[in-house]
Amino acid sequence: MEQRGWDAVDIVFVSGDAYVDHPSFGPALLGRLMESHGFRVGIVAQPRWDRTDDFLVFGLPRLCCMVSSGNIDSMVSRYTANNKVRNDDPYSPGGIGGKRPDRALISYTARARQAFGKETPIIIGGLEASLRRFAQYDFWSDKVRRSILLDAKADLLVYGMGELQTLEILSRLRKGTPIGEITDIPGTAINISSKDEGKLLATREGWEPIWLPSFEEVSDRDRKSNTPTPQSLQAYASSVQQQLLHENPFERAVLAQRSADRTILVNPPMRPLTQEEFDAVQELPYARRWHPSYDQSGGIPALAEVQFSITSNRGCFGSCSFCAITSHQGRMITNRSIASLQHETKEITSLANFKGYIHDVGGPTANFQDTACERQRSVGPCQRKLCLWPEPCAKLRDSHPAYIERLEAIERMPKVKKVFIRSGIRYDYLMATGTAESRARFLDRLASRHTSGQLRVAPEHMDPTALHAMGKPKVELYEQFIDDFLEASGRAGKEQYCIPYFIAAHPGTTLEAAVALAEYLFRSKFIPEQVQEFYPTPGTVATCMYFTGLDPRPGMGFAAVHVPKGRERHMQRALLHYHKPEHAPLVREALLRTGRKDLLPLLLRPSADRLPRTGKRGTARS
Ligand code: SF4
Repeated sequence: MEQRGWDAVDIVFVSGDAYVDHPSFGPALLGRLMESHGFRVGIVAQPRWDRTDDFLVFGLPRLCCMVSSGNIDSMVSRYTANNKVRNDDPYSPGGIGGKRPDRALISYTARARQAFGKETPIIIGGLEASLRRFAQYDFWSDKVRRSILLDAKADLLVYGMGELQTLEILSRLRKGTPIGEITDIPGTAINISSKDEGKLLATREGWEPIWLPSFEEVSDRDRKSNTPTPQSLQAYASSVQQQLLHENPFERAVLAQRSADRTILVNPPMRPLTQEEFDAVQELPYARRWHPSYDQSGGIPALAEVQFSITSNRGCFGSCSFCAITSHQGRMITNRSIASLQHETKEITSLANFKGYIHDVGGPTANFQDTACERQRSVGPCQRKLCLWPEPCAKLRDSHPAYIERLEAIERMPKVKKVFIRSGIRYDYLMATGTAESRARFLDRLASRHTSGQLRVAPEHMDPTALHAMGKPKVELYEQFIDDFLEASGRAGKEQYCIPYFIAAHPGTTLEAAVALAEYLFRSKFIPEQVQEFYPTPGTVATCMYFTGLDPRPGMGFAAVHVPKGRERHMQRALLHYHKPEHAPLVREALLRTGRKDLLPLLLRPSADRLPRTGKRGTARS
C-alpha cells in the first residue's frame, strides 16, 4: 500500500488458501480482475481466525469485505472420506494442513464482522458458498444444514464462477447503492426476512419464484429415533430436483427457500463469460508464482500441478452424479481463442524453470472444447435432458477439430517440445460425435503426441446399475475406447497403457457389483494404483442419493437407490485392493455374503502368475 501510495483499500479479500498469483487460484483471478477495473484490493490469505489483527492489516475497506474459504470446501480439504483428519494441504505453505478452520467461511465471516462492524458489507463466495447456498446435507455432522448465508450471517452470497457478479456488485457499491438493495444480480443469493419477501418479489417484474421445500421440511427428524423422516427425505430429493431443473442462465426463475423466519432467494445463474471475457481474465498480469513469503516454508504444492498447464475451456456438460463442477461452472462451455492460448504459452515458456513440456491443455473435461450444441447458445441447456446420459444426445456437436487446432497452435510455439493432455477425456463424447475418420484423427494424435506412456481414463465402475447412478456410460464403450486407443498407440509405434480410475461404494453400487468389479480386475491382472472412495461432498446429486436413498434426477421418478454404508462401504473399498493382506477379512466376508465362495482362492490367495504384476502399469480389459 505504501509503495502504491494507497491510504485505504476498496476491498479486503479474505481467503482460506495461501496466495498464489496464478489464474487457477480464485483470489488471484478475482483480485487481478478487480485491480484491472480500477479497484484497490488487499488480500488476506489464511488469516489467524481467533483474533481480528490479520483482518485489519489493511484497515477498514472502503467498499466491502469478500470472503472465500479457498479452492476446496474447508471440510473436504481437512477430512478424508472416512472422516479422518488430513495432515496435508496442497493449498498451504509446505503442503501442511491445519492453516484454516473447519467451516472456514463461517469463522472468517464472524471475525470479519467483528473487525469491520455492521457498516461494511460482507460478501461470501467460492466453492463452499456456492455448493452450500441451499439447505444441504452435511456428511461431517450427518445432518441437513441451513443455507450457509444464514450461518455465516453475510450480506450477499456469490455462486458459480464469480467474475461478472463481482464486477456488478462493486460497480453498484461504488455508486453508493446500499448492500441491502443489491438483490437482483444473477449468480447471487440474498437472505431476507420472510415478512419482506412478498414486497421484494412484487417489485421484480418478470421474476418467477419457485418455492423449494423449506429447511424445516428437508431437515425434519423423527423425535424417537432421531433419524430423518421419510417425508423429509422425499422433500430433500424434490428440493435437489428443483435445483437441477433451474440451472439455465437464460431462465428468469428465482429459487426461494424458507428457513424459520428468513427466506433465501437465489437468483438465476450468471451467464458464462464470452470468449473475449474469458481470454481477458486469463491474460491478466499474474506473477505465476506463490507469494515470496512462502519461500522459506517450501512453497505451495498446488502450484506444481498447474504451473505449466493451460486452461483452455470451462464448464462441463458431463453431469456425473458425484461431481459438483456442473453445478459450479454450469453446463455451457466457454473456450479460449487460439491467440489467447498462444499468449499464455509465451508467458509459460519464459518461466525460468520451463523445460519444454506443457503438462496439460484442458479444463474440467479435456475434450469439451465448445458448447454442446447450437441450441445452447440461444436458449441454454435443456431442462429435463442431459447431454450425454443415459445416451449421448443426437444434437451434440463435435468439438475435437477445435481441440486439435488449439493443440497444434500451442505445439508450434517456440521452446515447446511436447504438449500433454492430463485432464480427463469423456470417451463417450468422442465416440458419439464426428465421423470415423475424425475420431481416428483425434485418437492418433492423442496416442502419438499427447500421452506419455499412460492414459488416465475414468470408467469409475463396470456394473450397469452403479454406472447408471453415476451418470456414466456403459462399460462396453469404455472397452471399445481402450481397444481403439491401444490400436492408435500401436500405429504410432508406442507401447502405452490405460490407467482406469474407479470409485468404491458410490450410491447405486451393490456388494454383488463390487465383487464383480474385483473379479473383473483380477481377470484383467490389474490393480488400480489409487482407489477413490465415494465422498458425499456438498451439493452433488450423488450426495443427495447417499442421504435420501432416492434418485433426484429429472425423469428418474425418485427411484430407490442402494446406498452402501458402514461395514459394507469398507468391504467395497477393500475389494478393489483385494490383494492386500490387511483387507483379507473384509474381502472374505464380502465373498461369503454374496455367495461367491468360488472367488475365495482366487482373490485371497492369488497364484503368482495371476497376481497383478504392478499397480502402475496395466490395462483393465476383460
Ligand atoms: S439439445 Fe442435447 S446437447 Fe443440446 S443441451 Fe439439450 S441435451 Fe444437451
